[in-house]
Amino acid sequence: MLVKVKASALCRSDMSIYHGRPLIEGFPSGTFITGHEPSGIVSKTGPCVKGLKEGDRVALIAFIGCGHCRYCRGGEPNLCESTGVLGFTTHGADAEYIVVPERVCLPLPESLSFEIGAITTDAIGNLYSTMKSIHLVGGDLVAITGLGPMGLSGVITAVSMGATVIGIDPVEDRLKRARELGAHYVINPQQPDILESIKAISKNGVDKSVECSGVESAINLALDITKNMEWWPRSAKLVRKKYRLNQARSSSGRSSHIWGPGILTLMNGKK
Ligand SMILES: [Zn+2]
Ligand SMILES: [Zn+2]
Repeated sequence: MLVKVKASALCRSDMSIYHGRPLIEGFPSGTFITGHEPSGIVSKTGPCVKGLKEGDRVALIAFIGCGHCRYCRGGEPNLCESTGVLGFTTHGADAEYIVVPERVCLPLPESLSFEIGAITTDAIGNLYSTMKSIHLVGGDLVAITGLGPMGLSGVITAVSMGATVIGIDPVEDRLKRARELGAHYVINPQQPDILESIKAISKNGVDKSVECSGVESAINLALDITKNMEWWPRSAKLVRKKYRLNQARSSSGRSSHIWGPGILTLMNGKK
């Protein structure tokens, strides 16, 4: 399918290419056109295209699996053994047009702009998947540590799912943004009495934590403030083990089957 690109988000991993240290090894800067979080309009279809037609609005998922293995057929091309990645192993969407197979195209509702559609392919898919994997439900009190683009997407997603959200980040501008996006509480972790601040909100700690910073102190904090984990520091070994587990879980969030429900949640939350 030929897609006319309307928006293509800039991601941290694009910066890794720009600075000559690409996240996916073996594909140095200049090998391919970047752009793995795009949206656009179907411009032309090939003879095998069944579900989309010229003029349809689409967001493109970055992973181009084989289309036949159990992962691809289950909507998880990111786990396919022979998957390719737009902008890394094949030409991406920082261009006027891009040619992609139909299976990477996700129908984009009219009510979402192309810009939001482009951003959602990574951010909402990942964070919605994370919230589902920790069984977040309405009424849960959830702490989100690290309020960069992914953490803020976590705020939007958790609020849309009905949770009460505590945003935690040392950067005041990010705390302000989290508030604007619906976080019920925001806390700067550099204050000396952060555990007391959490206890003032809920004396037994939060129900669930989502760690989006990758900073060890934040990982420790997330473990310390989560209910039934007690108020004492974890060992570094345990932290690393749990961290790997959570990373492994969230990586499956880029699958196409989780994007649709994520988008519906986003729309129902009117964010
Ligand atoms: Zn990305
Ligand atoms: Zn496959």
